Amino acid sequence: MKNLSQTDPEISNLITKEKLRQINELEMIPSENYVSPAVLEASGSVLTNKYSEGYPGKRYYAGNAVIDEIEKLAVERAKKLFRVPHVNVQPYSGSPANLAVYMAVCKPGDTIMGLDLTHGGHLTHGWKVSATGIFYKSVQYHVKADGRIDIEEVKKLVREHKPKLIWAGATAYMYEFPFKEFGEIAQNCGAYFACDIAHIAGLIVAGTHPTPVPYAHIVTTTTHKTLRGPRGAMIMVTGVGIKKDPDLPSKIDKAVFPGLQGGPHDNTTAAIAVALHEASTLKFKRYGKQIVKNAKALASGLMERGVKLVGNGTENHLILLDLTPFFGPGGGYFAHYALEFAGIVGNRNTIPGEPSSPFYPSGLRLGTPALTTRGMKEKEMEKIAGFIFEILDNIKSNKLPQKKEDRQPYLVKFREEIKKNKNITQIKKEVNQFASRFPIFSY
Ligand SMILES: *Cc1c(COP(=O)(O)O)cnc(C)c1O
Repeated sequence: MKNLSQTDPEISNLITKEKLRQINELEMIPSENYVSPAVLEASGSVLTNKYSEGYPGKRYYAGNAVIDEIEKLAVERAKKLFRVPHVNVQPYSGSPANLAVYMAVCKPGDTIMGLDLTHGGHLTHGWKVSATGIFYKSVQYHVKADGRIDIEEVKKLVREHKPKLIWAGATAYMYEFPFKEFGEIAQNCGAYFACDIAHIAGLIVAGTHPTPVPYAHIVTTTTHKTLRGPRGAMIMVTGVGIKKDPDLPSKIDKAVFPGLQGGPHDNTTAAIAVALHEASTLKFKRYGKQIVKNAKALASGLMERGVKLVGNGTENHLILLDLTPFFGPGGGYFAHYALEFAGIVGNRNTIPGEPSSPFYPSGLRLGTPALTTRGMKEKEMEKIAGFIFEILDNIKSNKLPQKKEDRQPYLVKFREEIKKNKNITQIKKEVNQFASRFPIFSY
């Protein structure tokens, strides 16, 4: 970063620091990944200088001949990779992509359905504080105690509420999605069926998770999670979507622009095209398969040590630890903090039937996409399961105070104790040494 370090040493130093953190720590947030140097170059290119409101061949600004070529390439690659007839690559990120779907097929006040946030759903599937829960009448479905979507509840709620739009997709779901069942339910009630594959897009491309394309009308995805591209999103319209509503492609395009957004981020569009090119290779298929193998190995490693997992394992890239046997209700924070201190980065998360609260949840969510990008395999997952168990075992005497006013002081003391904990400090050293053996630009 020759120029940056001269112009703005402050930011330059911070970026270097963050890069070192990414090298030295184990990135286990299931929605994160490391892009390739090629994606990074496209993302940081001169394309950031251009304005191109509109779509290829229909721009509101001059000078877009090259940009048109880039966007058309991105669209063609996405169509081919996901086998869909229409794709919009302009959404700024996953949340605006989902909002565009509402704009395309609903009017404010219409009834929509999605998975409850505390059961693994996303904010944009109708959670109460999200625009999607404020401007639309949101009905939420749930998972059962084993973590699986309660499809009987979905059917019942659909009969009762007759939604206009049904979402399937999640941020903390360890099973394959029952896309076919959802498709039938939507068809029976005449609803639009949108699948949000943000987390699993890369797995679908690799063939380790079934695709929703034969059943869903609309498919949205972020491009920066398992798909390993820049921060962005895409909205796809499927063949069944066009059959249901021939205007759906143009409704989606109009909702993105001019409905919600102005000019697309052309540097991101190019980086998406590069990521899609990478994702079309055999190497990427192997990568996607290894993500799942690694998640399964991590799950086994933890369960063998007596750690409880929601669903007793995983069918995809993530696991959800039920920490109640260690800490009782609300212990997610203890694990989240102690692991982070040791360089293992995950996030506290609610578990099905959460006995505490979303802010003090009882679970921890971990995923393998980023570690797999670094070239780690089953053997490394076994090692990491050992690190995680040792840390949990070390701090299991902690319990979240019942009284709200006692919690902050308790956590302050907890954090100080962790910093002084010799065992965890030793594990931190081992984690750093272990992690730095696996380069983040290994491909
Ligand atoms: C990550 C995610 C999103 C939102 O993406 P952002 O880019 O963070 O706005 C939407 N839906 C699901 C299921 C996600 O996992």
